[in-house]
Amino acid sequence: MLDTRELGRRPGSQREVTRTVPAPAELGIEILAVPEGSPVDLDLRLEAVMEGVLVTGTARAALEGECARCLEPISDEIEVTLQELYVYDDRHDHHERNAGGDADDEVSTLEDDLLDLEPLLRDAVVLALPFQPLCRDDCPGLCTECGARLADDPDHTHDAPIDPRWAKLTGLQQDQ
Ligand SMILES: [Zn+2]
Ligand SMILES: [Zn+2]
Repeated sequence: MLDTRELGRRPGSQREVTRTVPAPAELGIEILAVPEGSPVDLDLRLEAVMEGVLVTGTARAALEGECARCLEPISDEIEVTLQELYVYDDRHDHHERNAGGDADDEVSTLEDDLLDLEPLLRDAVVLALPFQPLCRDDCPGLCTECGARLADDPDHTHDAPIDPRWAKLTGLQQDQ
């Protein structure tokens, strides 16, 4: 939550906000996320406009997760761009909002001059994450026979021939 009272409501007034906040829970996707409580560096500019407060800036945080192919731990960093207009709540149509329900409500509002960054941050981080995080771009994944990491042991073989159905699966995995 950011307090915008200092900013005032005169259109054109601006304020830079640099601060570090603890990451909320579940900031990311199941396989790759910002660890809860880890620092998120915010570098924001708040600008008062006619309808509310325009927030632009960046957020930087650490990422922890695992490779979608070989399940090795991944440590990475993420930097996302934030941009959102928070409308003054006294200008927002509460009837329409209540009728539509919060889930359909696309308008971010200021509640008592407080600005909730969490939904904005969450959307930006989720959008920026790869659909399938990999430990490296050409990660060969796991052997479908024994589960060994092929990166560690790319040439190992098995006596039994690979079942053609498994071979097909392997092909599908490599295509992703
Ligand atoms: Zn991998
Ligand atoms: Zn194997």
